Amino acid sequence: MGEFKGLVLREADGKVTYTVETIGDADLPPGEVTVAVDYSTLNYKDGMILNGIGRLVRKYPHVPGIDFAGTVEHSQSPDYKVGDQVILTGWRVGEVTWGGYAQKARVKANQLVHLPDGFSTKQAMAIGTAGFTAMLAVMALEDHGLKPGAEVLVTGAAGGVGSVSVALLARLGYRVTASTGRPETHDYLKSLGAAAFIDRAELAKAPTRPLDSEKWTGAIDSVGGTTLATLMTQLAYRGSVASCGLAGGSDLSLTVVPFLLRGVNLLGIDSVMCPIDRRRAAWQRLAHDLPKDKLDAITQTIPLESAGEWAGRILKGGVRGRLVIAMTT
Ligand code: NDP
Repeated sequence: MGEFKGLVLREADGKVTYTVETIGDADLPPGEVTVAVDYSTLNYKDGMILNGIGRLVRKYPHVPGIDFAGTVEHSQSPDYKVGDQVILTGWRVGEVTWGGYAQKARVKANQLVHLPDGFSTKQAMAIGTAGFTAMLAVMALEDHGLKPGAEVLVTGAAGGVGSVSVALLARLGYRVTASTGRPETHDYLKSLGAAAFIDRAELAKAPTRPLDSEKWTGAIDSVGGTTLATLMTQLAYRGSVASCGLAGGSDLSLTVVPFLLRGVNLLGIDSVMCPIDRRRAAWQRLAHDLPKDKLDAITQTIPLESAGEWAGRILKGGVRGRLVIAMTT
């Protein structure tokens, strides 16, 4: 296939626009491995990129898409051979370099991981960057002593990171409280394993005192801002929160009191530059620990042509679970 379909972003007068058009092999960036992309996804960051927010892309024309899964079509690397199935997340692919919103992508070999046994490329992208981040968050909490049976809060629960976090934590034996602003998602979140709910408005109020009663041994937070500040005051003694996102804001106003009197941990989660050994470990854990029967409930599949429309919705918190983009249609 010398020519293939891709979504191309262009910038004019500070405004970013997109079209789905025909691209040629010669347009692909340099790299050791060319992948025929089966699926990409729409993450919150893709929403920002498609809307030209945050100056994440500096050079146009640009093919976005921060993750993809597919089959190796050409390789100059001994680590990947033609026909291997691979996953890419992060490394600023889709931001600094061309990403997964085309039927072919070309990247460095050391940016890829092999598809774990038992996963299809579609299932891998049902997880995608958001689900991979959820796994990194769970691993960070475990590294800081979280044990099955503990009370764990997930904020932004009906979103991508949140949904996979709920499913993973419930399967691993934690008691999960889901914080969501969408009561209509309660049945969905219960089906993923949520045991209790808290309205996101309750956590969004700024804390009025440095310590509140101890409620959570662990938390996975996609929201940031006052939500993160509030849940820091509610962590149990030596509890931990994995900070993943900023869907509700990037400011953080805290006192140090929870650190000093309760020995709590604020853990930063970065999926983009995550070292390769940790990546492989996370994907193996996902293959083992994530109930595959939950992936269908989490996922909606859309064509590339609809990505722009959904990009607006994800920034408004209007996407439930994960959006997989089928590249083969
Ligand atoms: P989604 O949009 O799928 O999920 C975000 C969820 O946050 C929404 O579904 C909603 O959940 C909640 N939310 C949205 N807006 C607000 C608001 N104003 N106040 C409070 N809650 C809100 O996004 P993703 O799951 O893909 O990403 C979540 C966050 O994590 C983003 O900030 C993203 O940039 C970040 N992220 C970070 C990564 C990393 O490496 N650290 C990797 C991947 C994502 P509900 O309706 O249930 O309330």
